[in-house]
Amino acid sequence: MMQLFMPLNFLGFVYREIKGSLANIEKMFLLLERKEQITDNQDATDLTIKQPSIEFRNVDFAYNKERPILQDVSFTIHPKQKVAVVGSSGAGKSTLVKVLFRFYDVNNGQVFIDGQDTKTVTQTSLRENIGIVPQDTVLFNDTIFENIRYGKPTATDDEVWKAIKMAHLNDFVNSLPDGKDSKVGERGLKLSGGEKQRVAIARVLLKAPSILVFDEATSSLDSGSEQAILKSLREIAEGHTSLVIAHRLSTIVDADQIVVMEQGRVVEVGNHKTLLEAEGRYYHLWKMQNDKL
Ligand code: ATP
Repeated sequence: MMQLFMPLNFLGFVYREIKGSLANIEKMFLLLERKEQITDNQDATDLTIKQPSIEFRNVDFAYNKERPILQDVSFTIHPKQKVAVVGSSGAGKSTLVKVLFRFYDVNNGQVFIDGQDTKTVTQTSLRENIGIVPQDTVLFNDTIFENIRYGKPTATDDEVWKAIKMAHLNDFVNSLPDGKDSKVGERGLKLSGGEKQRVAIARVLLKAPSILVFDEATSSLDSGSEQAILKSLREIAEGHTSLVIAHRLSTIVDADQIVVMEQGRVVEVGNHKTLLEAEGRYYHLWKMQNDKL
């Protein structure tokens, strides 16, 4: 998703604007992507999550009226399940995530989190409860430590270190010239794709949301980074309800449920084994990816 967004100097501007006040990475997504603002209902209540389930119920959505994108999309993610969404490029996977965050309102149907229609809850509470590990993590011109604290600005140093360790970033941080105080971002050290994604994982760990969205990187990471990320991800997915937008099917064979999308519609739902046995769309995607190897 993030590759659609803005040049880095603009991101820097947005960062300065929002740091300290909104201090919420999803707010930044919103600022960057939305032109017309979605407003809270007058009687909006805060989302309260006891059982973090997600339900898309007969959702239709179009960016422009002439071109429907999501069409009659229905599926449920039960509490603490890991659900992967797969499908070819342009199938509508990232759009699902944008609708979940309510960057856009659905045209028909509803999205529920723990039984509450996302249109009826405050956007702040909605975004506080969902954490995202984006494809391409934005690093601000600040230290590596502050970049991670960004996940929860009120976190203590101890909490930040804990998240660094859980994201398997401590060896990396300690190896930097100024350790945790090393500057990263545009004018600092450049991080690899894998390191950046682990920064995003550490931010999410600090934020500790009950729902987690992982937008898998399309660009390939070296296999060491990919394995490390997958390991961290499996660890943090435990105990969370998670939605994974997957590009490499090999990373989601363990998902509780796989939702296969094609041209904005859900065409199959099942787990890896049942979908392979069905020899439908998923089977063909799997064969295509494995034939390429
Ligand atoms: P990929 O795997 O390539 O990331 P995807 O399955 O995530 O693809 P989406 O990004 O959800 O697909 O896009 C679905 C369709 O919506 C595409 O045809 C895309 O061109 C269109 N689309 C995405 N964002 C916008 C937008 N902001 N305005 C108009 N159309 C858009």
